[in-house]
Amino acid sequence: MDKNFNFKKKYGQNFLKDENILNKIVNSCEVNDKDLVIEIGPGAGALTEKLLEKTKKVICFEIDTDLKDLLKPLEINGANIIYGDFLEQDVNKVIKEYKYNNLFIIANLPYYITTPIINKIIDDKLPVNKCVFMIQKEVADRFKASVGTKQYNSLSIFIDYYFEVNKLFDVSRNSFFPVPNVDSTVISLEKRSHNKVNVKNEDLFFKLVRDAFKFKRKTIKNNLKNYNLNIVEAVLKKYNMSLQTRAEAISIEIFKELVDALS
Ligand code: SAM
Repeated sequence: MDKNFNFKKKYGQNFLKDENILNKIVNSCEVNDKDLVIEIGPGAGALTEKLLEKTKKVICFEIDTDLKDLLKPLEINGANIIYGDFLEQDVNKVIKEYKYNNLFIIANLPYYITTPIINKIIDDKLPVNKCVFMIQKEVADRFKASVGTKQYNSLSIFIDYYFEVNKLFDVSRNSFFPVPNVDSTVISLEKRSHNKVNVKNEDLFFKLVRDAFKFKRKTIKNNLKNYNLNIVEAVLKKYNMSLQTRAEAISIEIFKELVDALS
């Protein structure tokens, strides 16, 4: 890596320099040459280089055009590098051009963008088999939050609906250049063969869960005032809850029951 490169804090540019960690990340996906890999934020391409040893079907989305010279050799080696903000890309359109068995998404993510990226993967319904993300250690807990905890929110429910989340290993801040002021954790999100719960109306499930968490301090009665509250109350009553309950106390299974009762 060229130490004269102008690292941009606003893009969370802390590049991985630890060979052992790079290998561990790549090996946590069982990628073969028939698989397609999306890498978000290749940086100087350390991870991309290792991915290209497994498959030539690698698409990278990188926001910083100053990295073009550094990434040129990887393009020559087969990577399709798209410059722009990942959040604004029509990813389904890009992957339609490829024939592949499994789709993996790999990223060493800047912490400020972790949640919007996972939201996008879910909202765009990307046909992904497994995601491997390096994220800020403290943020990792939010993705596997249990009902009733402070971290539990609509995103943890949506992740749980589609994916099984596993914490793989921690990575010290000293494995990066420049050294960031937080440690990281690598997690995997593996697509479930069946969604966690089988809801009658998926659109309603997503809408109701979002609405239920809309104002964190408000009760279900307030957040779900546009739904049939008699039905909502009847379901909650079965679980010794009431309209005064808050969304963070409601499990994915009870949300499923609410949706089915309202459908
Ligand atoms: N993958 C490289 C590595 O592990 O060394 C770089 C990781 S660095 C933490 C994050 C990378 O994501 C940077 O290259 C940054 O420019 C890029 N990035 C930040 N925001 C982005 C966005 N919205 N879309 C695409 N890339 C982004």
